[in-house]
Amino acid sequence: MQNFYERYKSHILLKEIGVKGQRRIKTSRVLIVGAGGLGSPLALYLAAAGVGNIGIIDFDNVDVSNLQRQILYNDNDIGKSKVEVAKERIEKLNPEIKVCAYNEKLTNANALEIFKNYDIVADAADNFQTRYLVNDACALSGIPDVWASAYKFEGQVSVFDAKKGACYRCFHPVAPKPGSVPSCGESGVIGGVTGIIGSIQACEVLKITTGAGAPLIGRLLYFDALNTLTKEFKIAKDKSCSLCGENPSITELQDYDEFCQINNFAENEITPDELNIKLKNEKNIQIISVYEESEKQDLVFSDSLPVALNNIVFLKDKLNANVETIFVCKYGYKSIYAIRLLKEAGYKGKTYSLKGGTDKY
Ligand SMILES: [Zn+2]
Repeated sequence: MQNFYERYKSHILLKEIGVKGQRRIKTSRVLIVGAGGLGSPLALYLAAAGVGNIGIIDFDNVDVSNLQRQILYNDNDIGKSKVEVAKERIEKLNPEIKVCAYNEKLTNANALEIFKNYDIVADAADNFQTRYLVNDACALSGIPDVWASAYKFEGQVSVFDAKKGACYRCFHPVAPKPGSVPSCGESGVIGGVTGIIGSIQACEVLKITTGAGAPLIGRLLYFDALNTLTKEFKIAKDKSCSLCGENPSITELQDYDEFCQINNFAENEITPDELNIKLKNEKNIQIISVYEESEKQDLVFSDSLPVALNNIVFLKDKLNANVETIFVCKYGYKSIYAIRLLKEAGYKGKTYSLKGGTDKY
């Protein structure tokens, strides 16, 4: 017991936590969804704080481009499973805790089964399908979703606890169009922002666990590192929310790819192999590299025409509609969105989006 008092002295000294709060932390069970920029500080602080049972789910491997912000990993970890490295690292930090690594994708088939082992879920994912999935699975499981996102110089944090306040669907009832909101990997993010926002998530988890202070339920904290300012927004519970409203239509998990319209333009997709065959056999093909203006342009296809997403509609009159056009971008989402914008503008030519983007090419 000596070690308990010594190790967590700085928590025990806080009247809002004390011995009772620290014991609650010790028996708490927290699942972290996503072991990236937000998940790194989150996992480290929760482990250091003595959260007795930590789960981490992610199916990605460590990439060199992660090291700029994902402080769980170092150069020697490149290519290894993120959750396996994360587990080893935080178990070393605090051998008293139990860590469960889920090297898999969170899906509508496994979410409820995994969530039932936890009291709180911290959403540190970087895509909308997972956000809605975590929100819905938390509400259906009756546990809070400590949510955050980081983008460029900005971060947002909130606690979606459908029992006490708004859920993510009250805040965003409709998913944004695929590709319309780029991820950190596409648009960039300053490392410190993921550190700050992930650390706030860790504080929120510890506050909920111990009952200290006022968690961000019904409130959203916005942080702008470029101008160093914070803002707070109220998020009201929506009585007509399809998940947590008075007459909910969502009573089980959904198809989140469908909800987020990920597959709507799948008929336009072309795999890297199919594209290679096409490039070999047909001379007359136009390739458009779609990028966001703030994004660095790496032209994987040297003979492609780079076009910013917000200028895509101007291609309608410039492209030769009798020639097939391949749209490419880093992850294959913006290119789908570009085709959608162009079709909505009335373009009639044959279009394809490179599946998985240049990242998988
Ligand atoms: Zn709701």
